[in-house]
Amino acid sequence: MIKAISYLGLGTMGNGMASNLLKAGYKLTVWNRSAEKCEPFVRKGARLADSPADAVSNAELVMYSLSNEEAVEEVVFGPKGILSRIKEGQIAIDMSTVLPATSLQEREAYAKRHVDFLDAPVFGSKQESADAKLWIMAAGNKAVFEKVKPVLEHLGQTIHYFGKNGNATAMKLVGNLIVALELEALAEGLVLAQKAELDLTTVMEVVKVADFRSPLLVSNGQNILKRDFSPSFALKLMLKDASLIEKFAESLRSPVPALRVAEKNLKSAVTLGFGRENASALIKALEKEADIEVKGR
Ligand code: NAP
Repeated sequence: MIKAISYLGLGTMGNGMASNLLKAGYKLTVWNRSAEKCEPFVRKGARLADSPADAVSNAELVMYSLSNEEAVEEVVFGPKGILSRIKEGQIAIDMSTVLPATSLQEREAYAKRHVDFLDAPVFGSKQESADAKLWIMAAGNKAVFEKVKPVLEHLGQTIHYFGKNGNATAMKLVGNLIVALELEALAEGLVLAQKAELDLTTVMEVVKVADFRSPLLVSNGQNILKRDFSPSFALKLMLKDASLIEKFAESLRSPVPALRVAEKNLKSAVTLGFGRENASALIKALEKEADIEVKGR
């Protein structure tokens, strides 16, 4: 049974997951590029590591949730990275949203050190991470998956096994394609409703109950009406994912025409300065074009 875990990357998602590991009683080591994010964990008994390499010592399981490919390059492959210290018998799990090709590079590098590796990205956002209600996908060796499953059960409400490495990150990109298009559809719909002078509170009441309803449309729609764009999933991360989805789909010659439209609006919203706001701030690109602001009563 796994007892000692290191968690690297205490951003929006990592923070909730690492807190739940501490609550579950694991012996936790933490590392984050900006060290101040480690303080609350250290106060609760976690060990503070001074580099990714240092974080690996004494951990049976090393988990990380990092922004993007560049962060993985630095934290995993860099001079003081995880790979510089990790040894046979330890297990690594990447929970970031990256390309399946990146998961495969990680698997290869870990395999050279006889280290088992799973890609295990997640659905859900800040709240689901904090509440241990994430929807987790995992891929890699089945026996290793079974070994770490009890740990993942402290973080998520569902855990789906996807077979060989890279498949879980592929599923994550499939899901985020749908998320990006839902956000684009919501933004276009609300702008059109505002232009048509519909009562937007009643519009959202219909969105909540009709046969096209989804929790994502409801929560983002209600926040847009309140003009609350505080980040659960940052716009710049949605744009990063759109570019990953595009690359992935291109590599498989799978068409994603609607994604390109959403990506254009995400880019415009980032250019307008909203990259750190929630991904729903994509609507601000359309609002500018329409010369209106969508607002509830
Ligand atoms: P975040 O809040 O921006 O946190 C990103 C983490 O990566 C931070 O710990 C950050 O360190 C670290 N980082 C970034 N660049 C780095 C570098 N070059 N070297 C070392 N560390 C670096 O992001 P998040 O929302 O937690 O997302 C983490 C991952 O989960 C992303 O791949 C995202 O796409 C995915 N995801 C997010 C959500 C969501 O709703 N937020 C949902 C599902 C999946 P600092 O603190 O020093 O900046």
